[in-house]
Amino acid sequence: MPFSQLGLSSTLLNAIHTRGYVQATAIQQDVIPVVLSGRDVLATAQTGSGKTAAYCLPLLENYVRAQANKSTKPNTRVVQSLILVPTRELAVQVGDTLRSLGQNQSHPAKLAVLFGGISINPQMLHLRGGADIVVATPGRLLDLVSKNAIKLDQVTSLILDEADRMLALGFADELKQILALLPSSRQSCFFSATFAPNVADLAEGILRDPARINI
Ligand code: AMP
Repeated sequence: MPFSQLGLSSTLLNAIHTRGYVQATAIQQDVIPVVLSGRDVLATAQTGSGKTAAYCLPLLENYVRAQANKSTKPNTRVVQSLILVPTRELAVQVGDTLRSLGQNQSHPAKLAVLFGGISINPQMLHLRGGADIVVATPGRLLDLVSKNAIKLDQVTSLILDEADRMLALGFADELKQILALLPSSRQSCFFSATFAPNVADLAEGILRDPARINI
């Protein structure tokens, strides 16, 4: 299916074209309209399916729409979308996707890509003045919260990517702590390659009447 049928605005369609994507993948066809509608998502998604753009595109679209509804541009940005990922490599990859798809907006979203294993200070500096869309591994995100470098109380969309790996890497407690910091009225989208009982339990605790997408 062409991307033009999925409800995305023209600047995003241009960015998709520039990135060289022609047709939406199956998961993109299913996920993009549901995320745009504000509904929760429970998706079985393998790496290579195009899952990253499937959630990045509607988050960017929602940012564009939120900007269009504001008469003045605020100096301070509040985190609107939070993407949690298990590893630094995935954080970097998701950040690159967001950057390349969101780059040609007149008021581009400010991104923050946060992961451990490197100094926290540049991340704290980058977060001064806030951020609109955050990609983070759980441990580093909590470190930044504890240093008051970031607030999560205005998040409207949460994405949990590779949830099965998140649990396999022992992030269950960190996830619980992060969830407690988010507004309860928010959209949540859950992506996992597998659904062992512990993954299904986690999804059950987070999602409300999700659209179930199995590709
Ligand atoms: P992912 O499953 O998100 O890791 O994406 C796998 C690869 O597919 C990445 O290199 C993406 O840039 C690429 N990709 C994502 N969506 C499309 C698309 N609609 N057409 C062509 N390539 C895509």
